[in-house]
Formats: sequence, C-alpha cells, structure tokens
Amino acid sequence: MIPVITIDGPSGTGKGTLAALVAERLGWHTLDSGALYRVLGLAAARRGLSCDDPISMAALAATLPVSFAADQVILDGEDVSEAIRTEEAGMAASRVAVHPPVRAALLGWQRRLARPPGLVADGRDMGTVVFPEAPLKIFLDASPDARAERRYKQLKGKGLDANLPNLVADIRERDARDRTRSVAPLIAAADAVLVDSTAMSIVEVLDRVLEEVRR
Ligand code: C5P
Repeated sequence: MIPVITIDGPSGTGKGTLAALVAERLGWHTLDSGALYRVLGLAAARRGLSCDDPISMAALAATLPVSFAADQVILDGEDVSEAIRTEEAGMAASRVAVHPPVRAALLGWQRRLARPPGLVADGRDMGTVVFPEAPLKIFLDASPDARAERRYKQLKGKGLDANLPNLVADIRERDARDRTRSVAPLIAAADAVLVDSTAMSIVEVLDRVLEEVRR
C-alpha cells in the first residue's frame, strides 16, 4: 500500500505549509485538496452559477477543465493559482463543499494522487473519508484569532487589503459550515494525533509531526 500522511484541520492553521514541508523532507508528493474545492468555487463564479445549487455544482465537478501542473492550478487554460487563494474563493469553496455529489465526484480524483513513494494530503476529510487507512493522521488546530492574525499578516505581506475583524468573522463562518455540514464534516479522525499550533511556530509543528513519522 502506498503510504499516506493526512493533515486535516480548519482554515488558517498552516496545513498547506506543513504538508509541503513534510513532503519535502520525505521526498513525497502533496495533495492540496482545498484547491479542488476552491477552483470549483471560482469556476462557478466565473460561469455565473450558484455555489448553492447541488445539481449544477455536481455537473461542474464532473466536467471541470482543470489541471494541476507543479505548483500551478490551470482552469480553462488559465493559471488561477493566485485567484483561488482569495477569501472569496475560500468562502465559495466551503459553499460548494457541502454538496454530497460534489464530494463524491472528487473522491476518485484525490485517491488517484496517492502514488509512490508516498503522499502528504491536507484538507478537512483526508483522514476520515479520503484516506481512512492512512497510517499517520494529523489534526492541526489553532484558535480562530490566531488563524485570522496569520492570514492578516499573509495578506499584508503580499501588499493586499486585509481587515482583521472581517477575517475573524469569515473564519468563524467557514468553520461553522465545515463543521456542521451533513457530509464529511470537519472532525478529527478517531486515530488522529491532535496538534494545537496556536502558540507554536511552523518549525515546532514540523518537528512535532516528524517525531510522529519516526515513531
Ligand atoms: O483548505 P482550504 O481553505 O483551501 O479549503 C477551502 C474550503 O474547501 C474549506 O473551507 C472547506 O469547506 C473545503 N474543503 C473541504 N474538504 C477538503 C478540503 C477543503 O470541504 N478536503
């Protein structure tokens, strides 16, 4: 069986950065599953479709002209790697992600990305639904305020507009939707290692995870 490490948790915990660092250390592949939902949200907006309509969203998920090349996400032939990182795309992603047929359409796609020598997959349901047999599952959490603050610094660092109270509100809204949806809600797998990164640097979190890898 191809080894998989899953990293799940709410938005803004640094899952993506952590997954990339762990994969780099191990020489493994990565799966940023949030990018799949984000690109769907972006495609829906660009096509004038409602993210809340399960039928058109399922059809879009099944036929989306998207590809992932190195660090780039290509939609309709255009590099949308930056465009999917906005707060709007994150919010649209969480609306698209509530529909069971959308999640079903993306399941096989995600599983096919597990290839030798191994995969580090981050998202919300990597350990609970997509790779339930993964030998190492991490659930990465942090307080909403800490997560909003990190996001604020990230946006400011890129010279983008950011408003801290709005970011806290967005994070709480997205968390609530992700945790209470009927399918694949955001919860830690029973056998996940819980890591609270509120007061930890990314290096400390990486060391903690590598400690688990060596176990
Ligand atoms: O991780 P990221 O912030 O990019 O994810 C965007 C949204 O996509 C999340 O808020 C969540 O609703 C959805 N998502 C999901 N399942 C995943 C990854 C992301 O439902 N495995």
